[in-house]
Amino acid sequence: MPLLEVEDLHVAYGELEVVRGISFSVAQGEIVTILGSNGAGKTTTLKCLAGLLRPRRGQISFLGQDVGGHPAHEIAASGMALVPEGRQLFPEHTVRENLELGAYQSLSKGKRAEFDASLASVLELFPRVHERLDQRAGLLSGGEQQMVAIARALVSQPKLLILDEPSLGLAPRILDAIFEAFVTLKRRGVTLLIVEQMAWLALNICDRAHVLESGCITLSGTGADLAANPRVMEAYLGAGDSA
Ligand code: ATP
Repeated sequence: MPLLEVEDLHVAYGELEVVRGISFSVAQGEIVTILGSNGAGKTTTLKCLAGLLRPRRGQISFLGQDVGGHPAHEIAASGMALVPEGRQLFPEHTVRENLELGAYQSLSKGKRAEFDASLASVLELFPRVHERLDQRAGLLSGGEQQMVAIARALVSQPKLLILDEPSLGLAPRILDAIFEAFVTLKRRGVTLLIVEQMAWLALNICDRAHVLESGCITLSGTGADLAANPRVMEAYLGAGDSA
């Protein structure tokens, strides 16, 4: 049984249907990538998975349970964590406070020791975040903020980590560090679903990938298959005008 299974998912804003019947799955331990250009419906899909939008039609099954349309806090508590586009940190709060917010459910139950252990494991993954724990998040570079956003999602020890365009606006050197962290996470047993517009790094590390165009999946394959596909190269790997 896959960890996440999406079947014939439709999502609409009023009358405007922007996700038009997509199906895909993510197995335990995999990295799956969804590629798509601006407006393809990537963020809408992820918001629906995370419970921030209701599906118009179709099924979302997570850990064998139907979670389509369930509230976001319930889906998060079941082990799905979304790192949103634009990171959405609290800039005036310290990095440590931002991370504590990611674990509010266990902290509110008094599980401080559990949080400390989880935080230590996350900080090992991102030493730069460790160095900046007591600084205000808004003072960090874009790449460091992205690391904090990923760390905030990880402290809740999710079974599935979902990332909305983690590479957006970041310098190549920091991107390498972030994508290396994804590979380490996979080794640690975390399953990842990564949505990207720029495909190079994501296709390098993923097991399987799908291309989303105008709300439909138009191409699927292994990361290597898609990286070798001329159409994908032109649209998403920097060989064409749109990249
Ligand atoms: P981007 O990389 O630009 O975020 P995306 O693939 O994530 O692209 P979505 O943000 O899912 O795309 O948007 C898909 C379509 O839905 C777009 O045409 C967008 O204009 C539209 N859309 C997004 N949010 C809303 C909203 N709140 N109300 C109405 N239409 C929306």
